[in-house]
Amino acid sequence: MTQILPTSTVGSLPKPSWLARPETLWAPWKLQGDELVEGKQDALRITAKEQSDRGIDIISDGEQTRQHFVTTFIEHLDGVDFDQRETVRIRNRYDASVPTVLGAVSRSKPVFVDDARLLRQQTDQPIKWALPGPMTMIDTLYDGHYKSREKLAWEFATILNQEARDLEAAGVDIIQFDEPAFNVYFDEMKDWGVATLETATEGLRAETAVHICYGYGIKANTDWKATLGSEWRQYEESFPLLQQSSIDIISLECHNSRVPIDLVELVRGKKVMLGAIDVANEKIETPEEVAATIRNALRFVDTDKLLPSTNCGMAPFSRDIALAKLSALSAGARIVREELSAAKP
Ligand SMILES: [Zn+2]
Repeated sequence: MTQILPTSTVGSLPKPSWLARPETLWAPWKLQGDELVEGKQDALRITAKEQSDRGIDIISDGEQTRQHFVTTFIEHLDGVDFDQRETVRIRNRYDASVPTVLGAVSRSKPVFVDDARLLRQQTDQPIKWALPGPMTMIDTLYDGHYKSREKLAWEFATILNQEARDLEAAGVDIIQFDEPAFNVYFDEMKDWGVATLETATEGLRAETAVHICYGYGIKANTDWKATLGSEWRQYEESFPLLQQSSIDIISLECHNSRVPIDLVELVRGKKVMLGAIDVANEKIETPEEVAATIRNALRFVDTDKLLPSTNCGMAPFSRDIALAKLSALSAGARIVREELSAAKP
C-alpha cells in the first residue's frame, strides 16, 4: 500500500432499505430466494462503490450479505442447528436468539468466498474481509454438544483457518477477526483465546487483523460502558499478548472513548487500525476532529503503521449518517497526510 494512513471501515455498514429493515441489528431480510441472492450482491456492489466514492482506501463488503457478523458464519457450519435457537446472554450484556451446536462442527463448503470474489471484481483497491474470532463465536451460540468453551474454540479456529485460506485465494488482502470478547473474558483470552486466534491465521500470506472494541452503539453497550469508570484500560490485558503474536494489525476503539491513548504503545511494532469515528453517536465528526484523533495516536504509532478507521461497525446508523462519517474519516486522514508531507525536509 503506497498511501500512508489508509482508511477503512471496521465492519458492517447500513444495508439498503429494500434489502433489510434499516437501523436494526439482526434485521430480517425483505427479499427471498433468488431475489435475496441478487439483492445481497447488488448491495455489495453499491457499498464498494460508495466507500470508494467517499475516499475510503481499503474496501470491505460492509457485511451486506450477512444478517450478523457472527451468527451468519456459524449458521453455515455442519453440526449447527440454524432453526433451533436459544436465547443466551452476549458478553454478559444483552440477550440474543442464537443458533445451537448439536454435534461436531465442520465446514463442508466455503461460507463467504463467492461474496469475496464478487467484492474483488468491484475494485482494484485493497480489500478487507472480516470473520468472527473463535472466542466471540463461542459466546454467540448455545453449545449443546461440546460443553466446553475451549474445546469448541479450537474447533472453530480450524474452521476459520480453512475459510481464511479460501478468502485469501479469492484475492482478499486483509483478513480481520472480530474479537470483542477479548475485552471481557481476560482469563480465557490469556489461557487459549489468543492461541486459538493465531491458529485461525496460520499459514496466511494475507495481512491479518484483530478487531477488539466496546461493541455496537446499542443501549446494552452504552449502559455497560457507563460502568467502566473514567479510564477504560481493558486493552491493557490483550495488547501485550497481541504484541508478541503473529497478528499483523490491531484494531481498537478510540475516538470519543475513555481509552487512554498511550495504551497503543503496548502494541508498538504492529500496525494499528485506529477508531477515529464514533459509532455510538449520530453526530458527524468534523474532519478536524478526525485529524486530531489521528495526530494524538501518531505519538505512539509509526506513521507507516497507522490505519484510520471507525470504532466499530455502523449497521445501526441510517445510510446518510454512515456515509457522512466515511467522508469525515477520509477528509481527516487527508489533513494529516498533507501535514506530514509538508513537514518532510
Ligand atoms: Zn466492533
